[in-house]
Amino acid sequence: MTKLIYIGGYGRSGSTLLEYLLATHPEVVACGEVERHLRRFGRRKICTCRQRMQDCPVWSPFQHTEKDLKGWSHEQLTLALLDHVSRDYSVMVDSSKTAWRSTFIPIRLRRKLGADFLLVHIVRDPRGVSWSAIRTRWRPKQGRYDSATTATLRAAFGWNAANLACELFGWRYPNNYLRVRYEDLAGAPRQVIEEIYRRVGLSSPADSNEPHNNRHQLYGNRMRFKQVSVSDLKEDIVWKTAMPKGYRWLVGSLCWPFLSRYDYGAIGNPAPAKKWESDA
Ligand SMILES: [Zn+2]
Repeated sequence: MTKLIYIGGYGRSGSTLLEYLLATHPEVVACGEVERHLRRFGRRKICTCRQRMQDCPVWSPFQHTEKDLKGWSHEQLTLALLDHVSRDYSVMVDSSKTAWRSTFIPIRLRRKLGADFLLVHIVRDPRGVSWSAIRTRWRPKQGRYDSATTATLRAAFGWNAANLACELFGWRYPNNYLRVRYEDLAGAPRQVIEEIYRRVGLSSPADSNEPHNNRHQLYGNRMRFKQVSVSDLKEDIVWKTAMPKGYRWLVGSLCWPFLSRYDYGAIGNPAPAKKWESDA
């Protein structure tokens, strides 16, 4: 049975990077943010395998117009994909996270898949997440920019809700849960990825630099099309110097219960402790 790794948590927390690194294993297929497929119609989509959706070996059976997948749930689509890739892969990754549309999807998938399900909860310092939201606050659907305060508040509340959903899952199903901090992933990627592989019964691949053509992400951060070298990975810490103190305090205050739970230091004075030692 192909296992499912579901990446939960809030956006801008390193989920694209995490999925990329997981797919350095030839037995892993990365499917990106599956949930978005139910909201984005049209056939002119390019997959990260560099093929159009209708030619992609993973997504071609699921191409659709508005009618074709009408009534499908995220859970149904993920399970159908899982079945479709089961001949070729031991593990599939869905990086839909746990924003409000997908808050309870990990629980529903766990009920269907039992021990073959692992929620990897990725978490990043909320001040870094909010700074990223402030810098990219264009709202395409509304055709306008959010104010910096609105972007900050939206990110802080969304971060709390998405992480709370993962925490509740972890409390209910501790054997199907693993929390990973973005800061640890950037600092010690090999150790973090090996720990995740271990949890789904995979051994480390002989050569993780070989391309495997196993990334089929139709949706997600644009970074998914880039090549990443593990040795060049660096934590994005621009916010620590560039983010105005007032916004740091605002976000820190709104997120303080989780701030200490995840070792992110004081409200206005970030000092992340490292769980994994650096690979370097
Ligand atoms: Zn593809």
